[in-house]
Amino acid sequence: MAANEPGQPVPLTGATSTSDLATPTSALAIGAHPDDVEFGCGGTLAKWAADGCIVHHLVCTDGSKGTWDPDVDVAALAARRQEEQREAARRLAGDNAGEVRFLGRVDGELESDLATRGEVARVIRELEPQVVLGHDPWKRYRLHPDHRHAGFLACEGIVAARDPHFFRDHLLDHGVAHHRPQALLLWEADQPDHAEDVSGVVDVKLSALAAHESQFESTMKAIDDAQMDAFEQRVRNRLGDLGRPFDMDAAEVFKLIVDL
Ligand SMILES: [Zn+2]
Repeated sequence: MAANEPGQPVPLTGATSTSDLATPTSALAIGAHPDDVEFGCGGTLAKWAADGCIVHHLVCTDGSKGTWDPDVDVAALAARRQEEQREAARRLAGDNAGEVRFLGRVDGELESDLATRGEVARVIRELEPQVVLGHDPWKRYRLHPDHRHAGFLACEGIVAARDPHFFRDHLLDHGVAHHRPQALLLWEADQPDHAEDVSGVVDVKLSALAAHESQFESTMKAIDDAQMDAFEQRVRNRLGDLGRPFDMDAAEVFKLIVDL
């Protein structure tokens, strides 16, 4: 894949891994920027949505750095990227698209601090997802701080959301009770141990990625039809490579954490 297309590593082995969780009733995917969720787990979400799962998005930053145009109106770009994210969610999940929430942090300046952790925990408590998906914050040699911080926010947000004495104001001031998800899936893991078969929904993932039109130049490296075809072929090849150790035609792979 091109240098800054968010991707996933090839798993070392399928031998000690699990595959294909039972479809959850609801899922919350937490991404740093608009488009990260579609790259990281769009196929898995599409598959689950087609089987009845309500799919929610939480996007931590406004995506206002996502352009090579030095003269861009950043407020207009951020607004456009919210619309693109909503369209991508509709394309992924159809009638089972749930909420698309935005924390609205400035792109490139996300922090996994206590206040932001509390905001993520409150979203988890309000939406009550059975499964949470996010960036793996422990991916080695990762340069982009937003992806690392968004990963920590997913992990630490679950810890804060699951127990009643964290962020008591959620209950006392807003009537929002604690909630414990059943599983966490981290994409971009160095050592993934779980695969989801997305063979039947690759086109849905590609369609959702294509909703992020503002990113065609800088992320997909695709400003004409031929380049868009090449981008889509890279994604197909990648999903095929990831699926091979699991005898799947296409897979998204994760680090799976249960017993949260
Ligand atoms: Zn990103």
